[in-house]
Amino acid sequence: MDIVILGATGSIGRQCFDVVQNLPNVRVVGMAARSNETSLMEMADVLKPRFVTLYDRDGMEGLLECASMVGKGDLVVNAIVGSIGLRPTLAAIGAGAHIALANKETLVAAGGLVTSAAKEQGVEIRPMDSEHSAIWQCLQSSESDKNSIVSDVKRLIITASGGAFRELSREQIEKAKAADALKHPNWNMGQKITIDCATMMNKGLEYIEAHWLFGLPYDKIDILVHPQSVIHSMVEFEDGATLAQLAAPDMRQPIQYALTYPKRPKRNYEYIDFTKPLTFSEPDYERFPCLSLAMQAAEIGDTMPAMVNALNEQLVSAYLDGKVGFYDISAIIEKAMGAYTTKQVLSVEDVEEAEAWAIDFHKKMSFSNPL
Ligand code: NAD
Ligand code: MG
Repeated sequence: MDIVILGATGSIGRQCFDVVQNLPNVRVVGMAARSNETSLMEMADVLKPRFVTLYDRDGMEGLLECASMVGKGDLVVNAIVGSIGLRPTLAAIGAGAHIALANKETLVAAGGLVTSAAKEQGVEIRPMDSEHSAIWQCLQSSESDKNSIVSDVKRLIITASGGAFRELSREQIEKAKAADALKHPNWNMGQKITIDCATMMNKGLEYIEAHWLFGLPYDKIDILVHPQSVIHSMVEFEDGATLAQLAAPDMRQPIQYALTYPKRPKRNYEYIDFTKPLTFSEPDYERFPCLSLAMQAAEIGDTMPAMVNALNEQLVSAYLDGKVGFYDISAIIEKAMGAYTTKQVLSVEDVEEAEAWAIDFHKKMSFSNPL
């Protein structure tokens, strides 16, 4: 199988690089990243793809060319961060390749467009996000088609680590700096998703991602805090059985499964210590208001999730730069949601218009209220 890796130099991209080196049947033919040429070329020296592109040098054109290099039976890994991943996802689907999707922002912003394009082209969207991979793995046993997922599945239970601030009070979180938020207890990931874990926006994005991937209504999707990150998610069926997928927290498991599905070839992994307790609790929506805002945006639908997702990208970057505080993220998103008029998502342009509105809102906020 030929594959393309978009976002090759990132956290997921590098782990994908590790995984493919143990998969003799997988050949990497294209690689894309944003700017880090040295690190992209180091990887390219090993994998010898036909085509490499840097967004900062070649622009969207290079990225789209890379995304559409492979077709039927082959696969495009989208490990880009942010909603910039949408057009390349659609290009890859258009070329007929299966998609291994880490880039959840694509589904948050335009889940309807992406899933209907995939259906039309007969391509699979294989989740690489650990929770969605877990659900996908649990669903294999029921051999469900989309219709029986809706009727046989009582609910999906998405687990959440709770992020770096899980144990802190609201007052402590208020004072914490981005550097503290970047210390994730279980996973070593890119900066944007690590901040999203601290605010729990990540779980809100995953709630929307699950809705589109599995075609289930939001009232069949629940979130449960599970600090050990051993159970990656669960599926409760109508007959009373619950299936869970467990693995030591290591993204290489879901990454490999997306590349080798439905096979499970050997890899080196850490064993789970079953003598250690696995604990669960309800999410705290008071301390983590981004989670409930994302869930509200999901319910509202249309372009609301795309707007919220784009504004969140702006605010996470402002938080990393020390320009806004932790709770400014949710306060500004809430304000924007009140001011925004949604539109139906009929095209990529509708999504991009919503994103432009968010960027503009963020600019006006920082101008009128320099924080
Ligand atoms: P990262 O910041 O470590 O890497 C992002 C990658 O995207 C880099 O290679 C960067 O060069 C590339 N990129 C960014 N903008 C680009 C552009 N315009 N054109 C081409 N390439 C571009 O991020 P990450 O943590 O690897 O996350 C990637 C995606 O996977 C995100 O959507 C994230 O939510 C999701 N995800 C990550 C993890 C994880 O463990 N890191 C787990 C689950 C889901
Ligand atoms: Mg996840």
